[in-house]
Amino acid sequence: MNALGLRIKTLIEETGPISVSTYMALCLMDPEDGYYTQATPFGRDGDFITAPEISQMFGELIGAWVITTHREAKINGPWTLAEFGPGQGTLMADMLRTIRQIAPDIFAHLHVHLLEASPKLRDKQRDKLMPFDKQIHFVGAAGDLPAQPTIIIANEFFDALPIRQFISVQGKWHERLIGWNGKAFTFQPAPLPVSHAQDLPTAHQDGDIAEQAPASLAIMQTLSAHIKAQGGAALIIDYGHLKSGLGDTLQAVANHQYAPLLEAQGEADLTAHIDFEALTKAAQTEGCTATSETQGSFLLRLGLLERAGQLGAGKTTSEQETIRDAVERLAGPEQMGTLFKVLMVM
Ligand code: SAH
Repeated sequence: MNALGLRIKTLIEETGPISVSTYMALCLMDPEDGYYTQATPFGRDGDFITAPEISQMFGELIGAWVITTHREAKINGPWTLAEFGPGQGTLMADMLRTIRQIAPDIFAHLHVHLLEASPKLRDKQRDKLMPFDKQIHFVGAAGDLPAQPTIIIANEFFDALPIRQFISVQGKWHERLIGWNGKAFTFQPAPLPVSHAQDLPTAHQDGDIAEQAPASLAIMQTLSAHIKAQGGAALIIDYGHLKSGLGDTLQAVANHQYAPLLEAQGEADLTAHIDFEALTKAAQTEGCTATSETQGSFLLRLGLLERAGQLGAGKTTSEQETIRDAVERLAGPEQMGTLFKVLMVM
């Protein structure tokens, strides 16, 4: 067992079983050994590949969306382009390049604010964005964005936030906990049922699992309140379902493969699917409108095929092949096109 696993085992022995959300938070964000504080998970050699790392077209099209949204929102003067969980900074770099090129007036008034928990990634993002001659501001929390019109982008950020799980036992919902049985970590139901079962699905059978993402909902409410008060919009891109439902979506990924959830703590990415219906309701409670569609339809609507054609013009056959492959991966129904959803909040 690694050092983080040993610390979690000790914590459980001293204080009792822990919630799935505590476990996720420790595995992902432990300051010493957390997955995001330690590893550099992105890219072909890493644990997973995200859309901006597949192709520059992704960030360019989102940059074009930002320009249109900025104009429709009639933003004048200083404004914030914020990104939550910017990873290697690739998406922000591709957006900034596009905005600078197509809309220099909008670029001139733009301030970059990033929300990033990992010090290592913050350094990477600062380096990557150096060529744009913009001061890169880091905010400690979603509520710390400056009081001015704001467009917020988040790609594969919400899936990394801790979730709670509940398991149905004899007709009642119990929080699903992680304990230690003397040999291994195990999932187990909390001894008593939850008292707030009204927030959980009413129809369920023994063994069913339900999920809640309190951290995601809190951030969604904060960003929606900010947009409502200051003007602007948010674009949330992630994998998940458009309708709330039952099901265990917690997964660990390392080296592009599923990994055991309760082993090698901090060495695999732990994520859960996004409940877009719940996020939509959170935005609506703050007075925002929220609409969603699949990533495939969003990118095609923004001109993915046209951009691919432009990029490929005059290139070698193998370069054109790479571009075609990227289009398929980003928008193809068997790949990211359908599983990934885009939520627009205004
Ligand atoms: N958007 C990037 C990276 C996705 S990975 C891309 O598409 O490639 C998730 C990102 O969110 C990482 O940068 C990670 O460090 C950051 N992150 C995860 N949980 C966070 C939290 N609670 N607060 C701030 N940043 C977080």
